[in-house]
Amino acid sequence: MACRAGRAKRDLVRVVRAPRTGELSVDPRGKASGRGAYLCRDAACVDRGLREGSLGRALGATIDDTARERLRTEVAGAMRQAT
Ligand SMILES: [Zn+2]
Repeated sequence: MACRAGRAKRDLVRVVRAPRTGELSVDPRGKASGRGAYLCRDAACVDRGLREGSLGRALGATIDDTARERLRTEVAGAMRQAT
């Protein structure tokens, strides 16, 4: 859990680290294998997790600028989808 807000699971978005490639991506269905972390469906929460490093720690991953931009884009896309 990269965020301490303690929201209901449906208000969260899962970010997963692929087991072999280490690539980070949003997992809209919450079913992808790999180490995952949950963030609120909230751009501010995502930005905070990225800025403070809690997301990287939760995933055991280093989040570089490329991954950061991709996650921002993917989370924004996930937030637009109805659940
Ligand atoms: Zn949050």
